[in-house]
Amino acid sequence: MNFDQLKIILVSSTEKPLAVMSQEAQDKSEKYLKDLGVTFMSGEVVTDYDGDKVHLRSGKEIPSNNVIWAAGVTGNVIDGFPEEKLIRNRYIVDRYNKIKGYDNIYAIGDIAYMETPKYPQGHPQVANVAINQAKNLGRNLLKKNQNEWKEYEYDDKGSLATIGKHRAVVDLPFIKFQGFLAWYFWMFLHLMLILSVRNKLAIFFNWMWSYINKDSSLRLIIIPTKKNGTLQ
Ligand SMILES: Cc1cc2nc3c(=O)[nH]c(=O)nc-3n(C[C@H](O)[C@H](O)[C@H](O)COP(=O)(O)OP(=O)(O)OC[C@H]3O[C@@H](n4cnc5c(N)ncnc54)[C@H](O)[C@@H]3O)c2cc1C
Repeated sequence: MNFDQLKIILVSSTEKPLAVMSQEAQDKSEKYLKDLGVTFMSGEVVTDYDGDKVHLRSGKEIPSNNVIWAAGVTGNVIDGFPEEKLIRNRYIVDRYNKIKGYDNIYAIGDIAYMETPKYPQGHPQVANVAINQAKNLGRNLLKKNQNEWKEYEYDDKGSLATIGKHRAVVDLPFIKFQGFLAWYFWMFLHLMLILSVRNKLAIFFNWMWSYINKDSSLRLIIIPTKKNGTLQ
């Protein structure tokens, strides 16, 4: 594959990449993307794709045969709940994950919208919130007396993102750093979070092999396709 012929444009409605992270992380990730040859198109919203062109709300068009949609997923709401029980496709819940107006219906994770003093716009839709809301609700349900129920609050332990080899950003509550060290930290933490020693070792050796070899184990099979009778 001739990478000189490849142009990657990242369209985002936000001004910077990784908008939920710190300003340092946003600026650095934008620079890393630029270094890697990616054009970051900020403040643009995709409205349509007709197979040849990506249409943007601003009226701009990007000719492309390939679009990778990475704008996230939305919750699957069950029919029958009135509109006022929802905010942005999430059920409005109290601090115990009970859906507003019901005594015996609960929602946890991405589908739950809980306002707290620390998160007045609801919690971020991340795995930790889902896991910890589940644990909190499980513990509460085991208690016979509802007066003993504990309110949920998200304890944000930080965010990490990797942009490419030796390029990562780390936001921890007490320190923020980017670059080479951040990339090693990201790998170490991900390795630690992987279940079982066997899996940890297998992934560690795979990573080491790719690192030394400079060869990713991902394989692409590219087959020329015919479009309008001509080879692409
Ligand atoms: C591409 C991507 C990358 C992400 N990366 C990260 C990351 O690095 N770190 C992080 O913390 N979070 C990340 N997230 C977010 C994280 O995946 C979610 O926050 C988390 O999975 C939410 O857990 P959940 O249990 O609420 O929902 P989900 O994990 O989405 O589980 C919901 C389940 O319900 C099922 N379901 C839906 N409708 C029905 C129905 N009607 N009947 C029965 N089952 C149904 C679905 O099939 C699914 O299995 C990422 C998300 C995406 C999409």
